[in-house]
Amino acid sequence: MMQPTQDPIKKIVIVGGGTAGWIAAATLGNIFKQSALTIELVESDEIGIIGVGEATIPPFLASIRSLGIDEVEFIQATQASFKWGIKFEDWRQLGESYFHPFGSLGRPIDGHDFYQCWLKSQAEGDQTPLMAHSPEAMLAEQGRFFLPFNAMQTPLAKAQYALHLDSALVGKYLRKFAENLGVIRIEGKVERVETTASGDIDRVILASGQALQGDFFIDCSGFKGLLIEQTLQSGYEDWSEYLPCNRAMTVQTDNVVAPPPYTVATARDAGWTWRIPLQHRTGNGYVFCDKFCSDQQAIDTLLSSVQGPLLTEPRVIPFVTGIRKKVWNRNCLALGLAQGFLEPLESTAIHLVSKTLALFVRMFPDNKRDQIQIDEFNRRVLADYQEIRDFLVLHYCTTQRSDSPFWRYCATMPIPASLRQKIDFFTVGGGLIPGVEELFQPTSWYAVCTGMGLLPRRYNPTLDALNYHKLQLSLQSGQQVLIQVVQQQPTHAAFLQQYCPAPKPN
Ligand code: FAD
Repeated sequence: MMQPTQDPIKKIVIVGGGTAGWIAAATLGNIFKQSALTIELVESDEIGIIGVGEATIPPFLASIRSLGIDEVEFIQATQASFKWGIKFEDWRQLGESYFHPFGSLGRPIDGHDFYQCWLKSQAEGDQTPLMAHSPEAMLAEQGRFFLPFNAMQTPLAKAQYALHLDSALVGKYLRKFAENLGVIRIEGKVERVETTASGDIDRVILASGQALQGDFFIDCSGFKGLLIEQTLQSGYEDWSEYLPCNRAMTVQTDNVVAPPPYTVATARDAGWTWRIPLQHRTGNGYVFCDKFCSDQQAIDTLLSSVQGPLLTEPRVIPFVTGIRKKVWNRNCLALGLAQGFLEPLESTAIHLVSKTLALFVRMFPDNKRDQIQIDEFNRRVLADYQEIRDFLVLHYCTTQRSDSPFWRYCATMPIPASLRQKIDFFTVGGGLIPGVEELFQPTSWYAVCTGMGLLPRRYNPTLDALNYHKLQLSLQSGQQVLIQVVQQQPTHAAFLQQYCPAPKPN
C-alpha cells in the first residue's frame, strides 16, 4: 500500500542569494510554509551578485503570479517596464531588422495553419510582412502597451508580454517575500564544504566558523558552482564551438527617451549588444567573442552604441557557454549560473531557474533519493538547454553578413546535428519538429527564420485547394482590425505612468 515517505527531507540549504537563490527560496518557502521543513539561505554581501539579467519572457510573470505576488507591486518595486518581444537589428544584413514577438500569429483560415496561408500569399506576390499579423510586433512598432485582458473580443486579447526588471531589486523583493514565509537568511562566506563518507554534501562551513548542515543543498553560488563543481565535480559540457561568444561588457545608462516596450539586440562586429529599458534607467551590454575583439574594443563599441549618460563604469563578465553534466548530483541541485550558461540573446536564464525548480518540485525527493528520478531530471534539463542552444545558434548560423571575421566564422561554423535537422525539415515546407514541453513555440521559429531570410522551398500543397481570393480577404481583414485596435491603445510611457509608476530612485 502507498505510504508517506518514512525519510522526508527536513532541511534545505541554499547557497547563494542572487536571482537564482531568492527565486528558489521564494518558491520552496511558499510550498513548505506550513510544514516542518526548514530552509536556510546563505549569501555573502562581500562577494555580491552578478547584477545583470534584466530581460525576461512571459513564463517568469506566470511564476511570480503563482507565488501570489501582486503584479503591480512587483513592477513598481523592481522598476520594471513591459516587453512584447525583441527587436533584432543588423543580424541578417547591416541595415535590416526584424521582430521576435511573444504570442501567436494571425488565425487559421478554413482550418489551414496561418503560417502556411501567409506563405501561399507571399508566393502569389503579396508583400505584407509576417509581423503585420502579430499583435505584439504591431504594438511594439508603435510603442504601445495595455493589458491584453482589457481588450477581450479583439485580436489583442491573447497577446503575451513579459517584463524588463532591475535584477538587484528583484533579489531584494524576493528576499523579503521569502523571509516572510519563514526562510532563514544567513549572511556569511562559505569557506569549506564537508561531505559524508558516502560522498553526499553534509555541511557548509562559513568564515565565521558556523556550520550549516542540511539534508539537501541548492547550489546558487554563481559560475563557480561551489557545491556542484568544486565539491561534487559534476563536470561541464562546453558548447563554445556552437556559440562562440564568451564575454560580456555591461554598463548602465540614464534614460533619455521613454522606454520602448521591447528589448533591442543589435549585431555588432564581434557579437551583439543589448538595450534593456527600465523605468529608472537602461541596461546595456555587449556579448562578444574574445578571439575577435579585445576588451578595449568591446568598451569602445558598447559606449558608442549607448544613448544616455553613463551611470556605471563598463564591467566585463567572462562566461563559458554550456551546462553542468549533472545538474542534480547526489543531494545537490544546481540552479542559475551554477547550473549552466546560455547567452542572454533570448532572455532565457531566469526562466530556466523557475522551470528547473518546477520540475524539481514535481520530482521532489526524500532522503533515499531514487537515481532513476535524478537521471530523468537531468535528461529533461539538458533537453531544455539543448532546445534553447539550438534556437540561439539559429540566429547566428543563418547570417548573410560577411563584413567581419566573426560573422564570416558564424556563417560557416559547425552547428548541432539537432539544429541541422530542424533547419532542413523547415526548408522543405515550413514544418517544425516540436519536442516535449518546449519553450519556443512556432511563432518564435517563424519570426527568426523569416527575419533571417530562411524560407521554405514551398508551401503546403493543400493550400492550393483553398480559394485564394478568400484567403487574401481573410488575411487583409485580420490585418486591418489589428491596425485599428493597436492604434487605440495607450503609449507604453503613458501606460506605465498611469498603471504602475515606480518611485523615483534616490
Ligand atoms: P549570482 O548573481 O552570481 O549570485 C551568486 C550568489 O552566490 C551571490 O549571492 C553570492 O554572494 C553567493 N556566493 C558565491 N560564493 C559564495 C560563498 N563562498 N559564500 C556565500 N555566498 C556565496 N538572464 C535573463 O533571464 N535575462 C537576461 O537578460 C540576462 N542577461 C544576462 C547577461 C549576462 C552578461 C549574464 C552573465 C547573465 C545574464 N542573465 C540573464 C543570467 C542571469 O543574470 C542569471 O541567471 C541570474 O542573475 C542568476 O544568477 P545567480 O543567482 O545564479 O548568480
